Amino acid sequence: MKVVLAGYNVDAEILRELKEKARWDADNVTPETLSAAYARISRDPRDIEELRADSRTATDKARRSNETIIFGLGHASVAEHAVFNLDIIGVSRLAAEAVQQFRLAAYTEKSQRYITLDGDFVTPPGIAAAGFEKEFRAAVAFQNDTYRELYAALKTHLFKKHAALLATKNGERTVDGWAKEDARYVVGLATATQFGMTVNARELEHVLRRLRADRRGEIRALAEALHAPLAALSPSIIKYARPTAYDTDRVEELALLAQRTISHTAGSSGEPVRLVAHTDDPDLALCAALLFRYGGVAYDAAYVAAAEMSTAARRELVRTALSERSCWDHADRAFEAMEFIFELTVSATNYAQLKRHRMTTQLVQDYDPALGVTVPPNVVEIGREKEFHAAIARGEECYATIAGKVPEERDYILTNAHRRRVLTKLNARELYHFAALREDEHAQWDIRETARLMREAAEKVAPLTMMMLCGKSDFDARRTEIYGTE
Ligand SMILES: Cc1cc2nc3c(=O)[nH]c(=O)nc-3n(C[C@H](O)[C@H](O)[C@H](O)COP(=O)(O)OP(=O)(O)OC[C@H]3O[C@@H](n4cnc5c(N)ncnc54)[C@H](O)[C@@H]3O)c2cc1C
Repeated sequence: MKVVLAGYNVDAEILRELKEKARWDADNVTPETLSAAYARISRDPRDIEELRADSRTATDKARRSNETIIFGLGHASVAEHAVFNLDIIGVSRLAAEAVQQFRLAAYTEKSQRYITLDGDFVTPPGIAAAGFEKEFRAAVAFQNDTYRELYAALKTHLFKKHAALLATKNGERTVDGWAKEDARYVVGLATATQFGMTVNARELEHVLRRLRADRRGEIRALAEALHAPLAALSPSIIKYARPTAYDTDRVEELALLAQRTISHTAGSSGEPVRLVAHTDDPDLALCAALLFRYGGVAYDAAYVAAAEMSTAARRELVRTALSERSCWDHADRAFEAMEFIFELTVSATNYAQLKRHRMTTQLVQDYDPALGVTVPPNVVEIGREKEFHAAIARGEECYATIAGKVPEERDYILTNAHRRRVLTKLNARELYHFAALREDEHAQWDIRETARLMREAAEKVAPLTMMMLCGKSDFDARRTEIYGTE
């Protein structure tokens, strides 16, 4: 056996310095050489180390080989061996949403919970071109002033209310964070943010294509900014990064067709959480999946055996499947055999967290002021609802003006409190992970409530499957309930 560390990501500044010091002018400081070497593994019998040495000394040949293998033969996963880290700075929260909807990448974003917002925001190009800039900037300034007032008032209130906590380690920071996390509900979606993104070339090509099809100028400009440094560094692994009619015309036609087809809006409940569909008899399906995985028989036999089990026997099987698990362990893969589809109506703050769960499927609608806003309970407690709603109303006035002329950019003036509907599909394994993080006592209250309602709905239809579903902070108590002190 032999394992060779063939590459790893290093800060680009370090690479630049090293190249300068070594007067390195070869063009092989690119992840393309790794992709090209790995691409040859399937057909070239030489050791991988030799293939890499070849790629490093003949970058042009490596690039041609990448083009042939990735784009000619369609062996697209080869492009996944090239990975990039991108600092994305000074974009709006809406632009962050547009990028972070792509699931095969890693993100870490500046938190509006932990960092005081300084009022920086993005003025979208369409709004400026339509002559609404003054009105837009005034509405954003109003939102930001309200943020500062609410933050100060919430801080005073919460510092008094949690005086005992202030004396503990990090207590002051925690309580200050609670004030920030609630005040930010009035801040607009134009607010500037920054995040780090780690992505492979294959996924980035997909991201670029979709971002370039976006109707918002900021998002299209961001696509160009993302592509520019990589087009020079790694020209052979990102090729089909332009939108086609599939990304543009088709989407518009679908929207028109959907509008023509829907004749009424009944059922648009706006309920925070609704379980709209799930696998038939999830507890039976889980037992069948477990018997299949661990029993070594065909699925039909596993299913029949599961169907014949008593409730007590099924409970014992599921209990065993979840035994010895810590709150950090993923549930057994058999839990992926059952799916649950929820319709959620969530605030922008809530969605900002929800979208980060990449193992879920999410169909996301536009923000809709008709769905109302989420008001943090602490804002109600300090009696500042009037100021809160004034900021919301100011944003919605501006929204209506913008919507008349540049509808694609109207959402920039909505706030973190505005809502949208999301249809999300999770398997039971991901639901366990989601609940562990988001129903935990450290989770933000808004998404924590969503996680609680999702758990309650899932428990009703799958009581055995969900027997250990809970936030990390409830794990030990739930474990004692199910397993005793064994
Ligand atoms: C209390 C709290 C505070 C947070 N604060 C911040 C913050 O300040 N800034 C911020 O940007 N985010 C923050 N997050 C978001 C957090 O970093 C995660 O992005 C989010 O919780 C989704 O979790 P996940 O990646 O485990 O879930 P999913 O994406 O659904 O993934 C589920 C599981 O799949 C596996 N997985 C998925 N993708 C990969 C991969 N590429 N490589 C390896 N394994 C993978 C992991 O086992 C993962 O647990 C916070 C989350 C919490 C709960």
